Amino acid sequence: MRKSDAVFEVHLDAITENFRMMKDLVGDRVEVAAVVKSDAYGLGLSEVSGSLASVGCKTFMVADTDEAARLRALYLGATIVVLKADLPQSGEIIASQKLTAVVNGADDLDWLRRFGHGIPYFLNVETGFSRFGIDPKKMRALRHEGAFGATSPACIFSHLGCSDNANDRTNDEQRRKLLAVRHVFPQARLSLSASAGIWLGRGYHLDVVRVGSAIYGLNNARLFPNPLYRTVRLRAPLVDIRSIPPRQAVGYGATFRTKRATRLGIVSIGYRHGLPWACANRMEVKIGEHFAPVIGRIAMEYTTIDLTDVPENALVRGGDVDFLHEDFGIDEMAAAGGTSSQETLVRLGCGCHRIHTDQTPATARVIAARRQLGRLSRNARIS
Ligand SMILES: *Cc1c(COP(=O)(O)O)cnc(C)c1O
Repeated sequence: MRKSDAVFEVHLDAITENFRMMKDLVGDRVEVAAVVKSDAYGLGLSEVSGSLASVGCKTFMVADTDEAARLRALYLGATIVVLKADLPQSGEIIASQKLTAVVNGADDLDWLRRFGHGIPYFLNVETGFSRFGIDPKKMRALRHEGAFGATSPACIFSHLGCSDNANDRTNDEQRRKLLAVRHVFPQARLSLSASAGIWLGRGYHLDVVRVGSAIYGLNNARLFPNPLYRTVRLRAPLVDIRSIPPRQAVGYGATFRTKRATRLGIVSIGYRHGLPWACANRMEVKIGEHFAPVIGRIAMEYTTIDLTDVPENALVRGGDVDFLHEDFGIDEMAAAGGTSSQETLVRLGCGCHRIHTDQTPATARVIAARRQLGRLSRNARIS
């Protein structure tokens, strides 16, 4: 790692604590499957999965067979569900690595039945998301025609489109459509909710919840106060400090012009690290306990900040500038940049030098305080 690199710090203890919180919320009869696709949302597939396995996670959902094979090498016993099963091309690897395939339609099913070998599978049912998934009517017809052969799904699932809005009618419509196919395979488990769906109530938990965002601390359901732990920090070095006069333009497009004599700082992080370009002039960073606004456009490798109000003795060239901190997490950064928390997380994770830590003092303090207050989950609005 070069001295001038932005560092994305992943707090594994916060991730496992969020997973535990989800388990507490849904109770013992519901399984929490961890969604670790896309390199665990950019946070590191093997590190994140390792931590989750150590606190009892048994089912992992990955994007493709490459991720699945990496995970299988680490955890021989886990259930690994491949979202993009890519049948029939990936059939051999799915069988040999003992993976669980996601089956989306008649063609997948046809192949699976002829292949034999009893590949376990999750059946995706279309209930209103309009991305893959088998139509419920078609599913009943296929069952009737014997298209399933001797196979039966381990789990029948569907994906909610609007679960971040508890008042949206489509949540209940999707739920009814999924429940209506339960009788086709009465032994199969049912799954509907991802992170935000958990807060829609017990009726949405069914047998398995598939949780990504909440494990990574993203508050998709916009809970207030947010019970989830922040799982990442982002810092980058201050590489230049200079003073400029009033009415001087700063950066591309002169989107910021100084109103006063200004002390500028240049920080070695830009949009190629995943910092949202649209955060320009819309967020504050922290240097120690002091705040400093981001001014002018965010460039590919650099970001400019206004240090005029930061005491001079707090400033050192090469010192750390915090872009994510207790008061400003991924959700806030995404809002400032007009994008989603998931996009912001995955881009930062892919763009920065990443380090993993465990037993973070700040997280440990909050965990201890909350334990004293009693399990937080009892306060969450779950009906
Ligand atoms: C990504 C994904 C999830 C996890 O969604 P979150 O909202 O991040 O918890 C669950 N199910 C499926 C099918 C997914 O693709």
